[in-house]
Amino acid sequence: MVNASANPRKKRRWWLIPVFLFLFLILLAAAAWFYDGRHAELEVLGQKEVLLEYGQEYTDAGAKAASVGRLFGELDTVIDVYAYIPHDLAELGEHQIRYFCTYLQKDYEQIRIVRVVDRVNPRLELTPTVDFNAYAGTGFQEPGYRATDNHDGDITSRVVTEIRGDTVYYSVSDESGNEAFAERPIVYAPTEPVIKLLGEDNYVMEAGMTFEDPGFRAYNERAEDVSALVTVEGEVTPYLAGEYELTYTLETGFGGPVTATRKVFVNPVGVPASVAPASRTIYLTFDDGPGPYTEKLLDILKKYRVKATFFVTNQFPEYVDLIAREYAEGHTVAVHTYSHDYDYIYSGVEEYVEDFMRMRELIHEKTGEYTNLFRFPGGSSNTISRITPGIMTVLTQAMPDMGFKAFDWNVPSGDAGETRKSDQVYLNVIQRIQQVDYGYAVVLQHDIKEFSVDAVERIIIWGLNNGYVFAPLDMTAPRTPHAVYN
Ligand SMILES: [Zn+2]
Repeated sequence: MVNASANPRKKRRWWLIPVFLFLFLILLAAAAWFYDGRHAELEVLGQKEVLLEYGQEYTDAGAKAASVGRLFGELDTVIDVYAYIPHDLAELGEHQIRYFCTYLQKDYEQIRIVRVVDRVNPRLELTPTVDFNAYAGTGFQEPGYRATDNHDGDITSRVVTEIRGDTVYYSVSDESGNEAFAERPIVYAPTEPVIKLLGEDNYVMEAGMTFEDPGFRAYNERAEDVSALVTVEGEVTPYLAGEYELTYTLETGFGGPVTATRKVFVNPVGVPASVAPASRTIYLTFDDGPGPYTEKLLDILKKYRVKATFFVTNQFPEYVDLIAREYAEGHTVAVHTYSHDYDYIYSGVEEYVEDFMRMRELIHEKTGEYTNLFRFPGGSSNTISRITPGIMTVLTQAMPDMGFKAFDWNVPSGDAGETRKSDQVYLNVIQRIQQVDYGYAVVLQHDIKEFSVDAVERIIIWGLNNGYVFAPLDMTAPRTPHAVYN
């Protein structure tokens, strides 16, 4: 028997399961989405309120937008931000810069406030008073003024003037209340001829500085400038200490000349007094170098640790660098002359000083120090300088006035003329050292003469064996001054 009865059980609908699952997931996603609350956050970058001076350039820092949610946080989504910058942003006042963005169908907006202010004071310029601004009869005459402002432009018409006493006061304010002030003295024109000195009536200066007359103005009785008619008498010798007087004279048609005087005080700088050394001392001094034998000499001095003094020149420029070595090895470097050209240096005080300063500058270049010690070419007693009568008399006064100390010598080695032999130089020096009874000897030699340099070692040995010390000259060392014959 066949059981053919059909199975009455209902057929199960398995396919519904994924459908329900799918719907459930959608529901879950929707819930997550609502919980996330995704939105844009629009942020103004930089200051939200900006204070800007009028005329100052404005650079907008911009704004940025980000996609933000509670569940998924910040996403990397790019959201375009648009800015609206008002076209009159440069003008005074309060401006709003607006920033917009749209995200997920929603609009966002942020604002930045820009305040443009004018806090700069206007400029108030007075036309200078040339001579006078007030005249008998008419009183004060305005020479003119001008006021300008960075925002309001020309505001000359807003200037207010007020006369109080002998002064005119000016003030002006711009649209923003910024103010400027000025004042000018009232200067009455003379009613008779007058000379007005510019600068100090008593002019004080130090010897060696440049004197420049501060000048003057002269006016006639109609207050016209007649400065060109003034004559000046008197002269200032700026390198020589003393009291000088300059007289300014204006001839007038009536009542005689009008004069004014200025006193010029040239103060001496001076030099320290000389002090005799405590022990018997030999000061070796060498003129006219550096030259071809200077290095040899420096080696000898170094060997015996003897310090000397070099009165230097620029006669042999190829050796002039040796000044640096002289200085570095503890010798005194002092000015002799730049050119050693007698005809030039003694042709006038100005020429002498020019040459001197040139050498002093060169020494400074080589040593880093300005020396105030020097020796006149030929010494203070030279007569070659008679090409300019009296020049040594002036220079021996003027140089210490300017702070420079001159050194002569009391022991001539004879190497400049009377001998050409090393032995004779040696004998001259040691004999004359014994003859000078000051207790100190200032020896003159020339390191551009080989035979003279060759005598130095024997002189040193003799000195050391006879109880002398050797020292370089300094500002308080003995000057051994010569008599002045010109
Ligand atoms: Zn010389």
